[in-house]
Amino acid sequence: MNRTDQLRNIPAIDEVLRCDEITSLCPRPSHRRLTVWVRAAVDRCRAQILDGEELDSAAAMKRIVDQVRGLHQSDSGQAIRPVINATGVVLHTNLGRAPLANLAVERMHDAARYTNVELNLHSGRRSKRGERVTQLLAQLAGSEEALVVNNCAAATMLVLQAIAAGREVIVSRGQLVEIGGGFRLPDVFRSAGVVLREAGTTNRTYLHDYESAIGDQTGAIIRVHRSNFQLTGFVTEPTIDEMVTMDRPSEVPVIDDLGSGCIEDLSSLGLAEPTVPASVEAGAELTLFSGDKLFAGPQCGIIVGRAKWIDQLRKSPMMRALRVDKLTLAALEATTEIHLSGNALVELPVLKMLATDAEAIESRCRFVRDRIGDRCEVQIVACQSQVGGGSAPGVTIASYALKIGGPHADRLAKWLRNGSPAVQARVSEDCLLLDLRTVCEHEIETLTNCLCEAMQQSAREGRQE
Ligand SMILES: *Cc1c(COP(=O)(O)O)cnc(C)c1O
Repeated sequence: MNRTDQLRNIPAIDEVLRCDEITSLCPRPSHRRLTVWVRAAVDRCRAQILDGEELDSAAAMKRIVDQVRGLHQSDSGQAIRPVINATGVVLHTNLGRAPLANLAVERMHDAARYTNVELNLHSGRRSKRGERVTQLLAQLAGSEEALVVNNCAAATMLVLQAIAAGREVIVSRGQLVEIGGGFRLPDVFRSAGVVLREAGTTNRTYLHDYESAIGDQTGAIIRVHRSNFQLTGFVTEPTIDEMVTMDRPSEVPVIDDLGSGCIEDLSSLGLAEPTVPASVEAGAELTLFSGDKLFAGPQCGIIVGRAKWIDQLRKSPMMRALRVDKLTLAALEATTEIHLSGNALVELPVLKMLATDAEAIESRCRFVRDRIGDRCEVQIVACQSQVGGGSAPGVTIASYALKIGGPHADRLAKWLRNGSPAVQARVSEDCLLLDLRTVCEHEIETLTNCLCEAMQQSAREGRQE
């Protein structure tokens, strides 16, 4: 049969829509969605025939129906679903970084309806958006003012553009980094309309390197925290305290891009991250950080610093494009309150997970193993958790994991991901590793059930092969 005859074997769209297997799909999709799927399946079948595949009309119909059913299955239901994070990476960017505190979740829930995001309920007049949360942030940081935008990348863009567009911004060569997802500082400078002025060398930059780069074109000096890699060995870099003391005109601010947003000194947990209050106290005119890294709140970018500079940012036309929604403001307000209350290590899940000692995690592992033990070979092994999210590079935290051996770790991982809730684990050397540092106490029972379910499914699939 030639190609053209083969193409005649493809059923018409209407014919597919009328066939029993399609009309009986459950839950029943709308006619509009069905038509989109059938059209896609028909197009694909046509392409396959043009590629040389031989299909009679029954085979073509079956191919199309199977594909529509596949689309129905993968396209139905919720795409963004809860996941139990058993990777041991606390700030897992693919899993939405910081899980929020209960208080933050409640506030978001309340704010989802009408809310006084720009209304002063006392006076009945319009108020500044997020006025209270910026006041709380300033209190926390010890700064004059604060401002919230969509993320720290947006904060960097806004600051560069509003403060130094058309002029030079000085940065140490060792800090010209790619932050992730293709966000490279030189590109950010360019798109903010700022001229990049490098100071020093990759491994060594001295205060006098900055000072000699200052000229009448200088708009600002920025320090970028190396949050996702380490530079070790023959390395020198002025501290932020030293940078603010450098000989510079008063209209040239020092900007500190901290990224990770650590509020308290976490060195007791093995994390030597610079803190926001220390940067403000040192005298940085503007300090920038993410809301959803070690600050442990919703995705946003927070800028704290001198009123004079924050006012300038607030007036920028860019600000309107970068502002955050009421849900973010509600969650951020709650998170900031918790930091101010002094209970951050207990109430903010990210910090609580980082602070949990290894013995407590080992006992979580025992709890789960004792319930699934005889189904398959489960061991409890020591492992290392990570902070993740481009924070604290190279830092690992002693932890424990459930290690499930056997030749089918990939298959089990797949069933775990496809369960409800989904469970994301690590596969390492043909073993499945579940680091329970990132699994909260209240999720342990659910995790146990998910594991039992996935093991059954995986075994069933194994027997069918
Ligand atoms: C993570 C990071 C950013 C980007 O923050 P987002 O909130 O993810 O946009 C910017 N600068 C530094 C130093 C960072 O670590």
